[in-house]
Amino acid sequence: MNISKTLFVNLIRCERYSGLHETLNFHERAIISFEDDESLKEIQSQLNEEKKLALLENMKMFEIDEDPAKQDLSLKTEKLMEIYNQIELLAGKKIQKKYDGKVIYGKGLKNQKKISHKIEGYNFFTFVDAFYESEKSVNIHEVKATTSNKFLDIEYKNKNGKKEKMFKKKGDSSLCFNILPKSEITESYKKKLNKLTDKFSKIGRYIYDLAFQYCLYSMKKDSKEKEIRAYLNVLNSRFVFSGDYINSLPKYSDDIIFEVELTELMDYMMPNIRQDFLKVIERVNNNNASPVKLGRHCMKNDHRECKFYKICHKEIPEKNSIFTLIDRHHGFKNKSGEKKSVYDFINEGISSALEIPDQFVQRERNRVQIEVMKTKTKYFDKNRIRKYIDNLKYPIYHLDFESFPSPLPRFKGEKPYDQSVFQFSIHIEKTPGNCDILLDHKGYLATNHHDHREDLVKELCNIIRKDQGSVMVYHKQFEEKRIKEFMNYFPSYSDKLKDILNRIVDLKLFLKGNIELESKMGFQEKKLFNFYSPGLEGSFSIKKILPEFTDLSYENLEIKNGSEAFIKYLEFENMNDKEKKVTEKNLIEYCRQDTYAMHMILKNLRGIVYD
Ligand code: SF4
Repeated sequence: MNISKTLFVNLIRCERYSGLHETLNFHERAIISFEDDESLKEIQSQLNEEKKLALLENMKMFEIDEDPAKQDLSLKTEKLMEIYNQIELLAGKKIQKKYDGKVIYGKGLKNQKKISHKIEGYNFFTFVDAFYESEKSVNIHEVKATTSNKFLDIEYKNKNGKKEKMFKKKGDSSLCFNILPKSEITESYKKKLNKLTDKFSKIGRYIYDLAFQYCLYSMKKDSKEKEIRAYLNVLNSRFVFSGDYINSLPKYSDDIIFEVELTELMDYMMPNIRQDFLKVIERVNNNNASPVKLGRHCMKNDHRECKFYKICHKEIPEKNSIFTLIDRHHGFKNKSGEKKSVYDFINEGISSALEIPDQFVQRERNRVQIEVMKTKTKYFDKNRIRKYIDNLKYPIYHLDFESFPSPLPRFKGEKPYDQSVFQFSIHIEKTPGNCDILLDHKGYLATNHHDHREDLVKELCNIIRKDQGSVMVYHKQFEEKRIKEFMNYFPSYSDKLKDILNRIVDLKLFLKGNIELESKMGFQEKKLFNFYSPGLEGSFSIKKILPEFTDLSYENLEIKNGSEAFIKYLEFENMNDKEKKVTEKNLIEYCRQDTYAMHMILKNLRGIVYD
């Protein structure tokens, strides 16, 4: 039996995975034979899906959208795969330059180095993104579409309580991790080290993938004489695109790729990874499909969510589940300090928020949520919402941006994953409640992949006049950040943009509440919500809020969420004129809905709080 890296990281999740995999006939051809073309194709397609989902996660699409079908998004465009391939090739080229051309890398598995090793009759195998071998040494390079910030930002407290970086700089675009001598290890360091080696943590999973390859190679007989080094190659979060193009394609310098050397960490992890190989063999031999404890290994709402998630979580109720409780990731403590996690409760058979023993519900927010679930009555703090509305100035400009969080920067001044704005919509509400969906609507849409940013900014500044009217957005962090970026790209518009920035109000806070703003409004008591309804299921996203106040819906629209919008924009270049016209219309309708939705929520909110 052949066991790929992907299968390995799934089998190591829990004891049940192997049994379900077998029982439900999830045997990929890869398990039968991975040498023939068909098997290779199947492994490649699995890997591609995984990579597209990883890209979407890095683009923060899993946090922004709450569409249950979000994971299918990756299937809708090959463009994402093209981007991932490009990142791998950029990394390969950089590595090749460094190691004098003796590097095996390339698009697709056929061009990559295969490492395999047999243990107890099982053939474990993997393909290495870039592989270098000389007489004395071997370098294993894994490419991930994440950014260097994830490594640069990790700090621990040393013995003097001073903050130190976990990873040390080796140059402008490389880092190295060295294990501290025992005498210097602190509790804070141990905690961070545990995170790095935790295969289910956001960063640990990248490291674990590399550790699998490193361990597999180091177990081979012919590797014993050679020094093995291991690296992750990621996007440099501080790389700023110069704006140079060759044949209309962006020209990137090698600095766009950031190398993180992890050889010492690999050696530190090896004893555990070797144990994991034995654990996997035992699990495959047993093929036990009986239920096991649920937990982080199921990777809920993650691009690596287990494919058996629905089977194992079938007892979780659709409504009022424990997963709808806000701040649940902090766990639940009772008055005597006993702490339980969400999964502790689930594994005890408590999966509805309504079943959690009262003594464990100490957070005020959760108390409000549970009360609303029980009474099925919406919760309002009309006084506070009224105060927010009283502070509005007219005309109100309801504003929304659509953007493409491009992993590879496309325009001068952009960095990896910068949100490249391609569309905005504005509804102008001249007096309270008066705004027509069509007549009072303005907008801008870039209809190709050229740099339209200055045009877009100019239009934005033309539409939003210096008249002191409030600029209403939903979740202001996003729009504020974009406007600050515009100020940086186009300083000549700074004054106007700064004025817009200072006038931003966030409709989400009217409902979710904000302690700082409300204390300025004169409210002494700290409150956590101004509105809650069972339909929100723990989320204040506009898609959840909308049906609470209006009959508007995204269901009838062709484009239903921000991810679909940018994917359609991405596909512009593959469309004929007719398809493009239809897509442009759909994009305008979608973005228009977002700003009209804000107007309608506000309008109906007025009706409720001034009743
Ligand atoms: S959903 Fe969780 S418990 Fe079930 S097989 Fe997957 S990882 Fe194991």
